Amino acid sequence: AKSGGRDHARIFTPQLHEEQFQHLHLESDLRQAIDAGQLQLHYQPRIDARSGCLNGVECLLRWQHPQRGLIMPDSFIALAEESGLIVPIGAWVIREACRQQLAWRAAGIGDIAVSINLSAVQLKAGDLLATLREVLQTYPVTPGLIEFELTESTLMDNAEHTIATLHAIKQLGFALAIDDFGTGYSSLNYLCRFPLDKLKIDMGFVQHLHDSPQDLAVIKAIIGLGHTLGLTVTAEGVESALDVEALRRAGCDELQGYYHARPMPPAQFIAWLAQAAA
Ligand code: C2E
Ligand code: CA
Ligand code: CA
Ligand code: CA
Repeated sequence: AKSGGRDHARIFTPQLHEEQFQHLHLESDLRQAIDAGQLQLHYQPRIDARSGCLNGVECLLRWQHPQRGLIMPDSFIALAEESGLIVPIGAWVIREACRQQLAWRAAGIGDIAVSINLSAVQLKAGDLLATLREVLQTYPVTPGLIEFELTESTLMDNAEHTIATLHAIKQLGFALAIDDFGTGYSSLNYLCRFPLDKLKIDMGFVQHLHDSPQDLAVIKAIIGLGHTLGLTVTAEGVESALDVEALRRAGCDELQGYYHARPMPPAQFIAWLAQAAA
């Protein structure tokens, strides 16, 4: 512990103490979560903007905690990254997404493309490529139907190693998307050097589509940029028919958001599929 006189007052603040205590608890709980089968993936449809057909799903992590109930990723991903637990958890996510994709195939539903979020920590850890090769040996999935989403900040730090890793991931046949595009310190210079397939426009722009001409202008600029670079452009956070209409008119390729469907556990997703096909 630190011995700075001023820090003492803070360390013994009951609330802070409680927070630290919770944090430690949560970390040791999270350490066991994989083996205890408490992690789950929910699936949110990605919709083709022109045809309205299902393009694929994004896999979103949830933690079914025995005492606290369902915990959302914003409440534990940072903790998982700080503790390094994101590496085994991220590997679990990749395997589970592949297992689910094969289960859908076996059930006669067909091949559904999956998008998987990758953390910067996973990319840096070094064993990501080994995990991906192992997954391709274990599961007879089509790598072109598996897309990894990375944020701009992930791409920007340690750029040389990142560029090499992304090329290796591409070489294995996987697809790559930039998530939350427009919020990080995007460098157009780097953008051309990454072997990308897709840009996902940050939800913040979509949320202000109708009340901010600037946000609509940024959306159009991102779509233009993406198309110039030969990339698919997806909008997230699509919540209304008006959003759909404006994004279609702006030339957006793919839509994702509560308007079409929320992230769903597997059984609910199957029901959604049946209703969407009807
Ligand atoms: P993200 O990758 O940007 O995922 C989109 C988030 O927006 C999801 O939140 C989704 O439920 C939510 N969302 C989708 N449509 C709408 C909408 O129309 N309106 C609004 N307001 N929200 C919408 P979720 O599932 O809570 O995930 C939060 C973040 O946690 C994700 O943001 C991602 O950064 C991270 N995350 C989730 N799963 C994983 C994972 O397996 N690995 C890693 N490293 N991060 C993950
Ligand atoms: Ca994402
Ligand atoms: Ca996003
Ligand atoms: Ca809105």
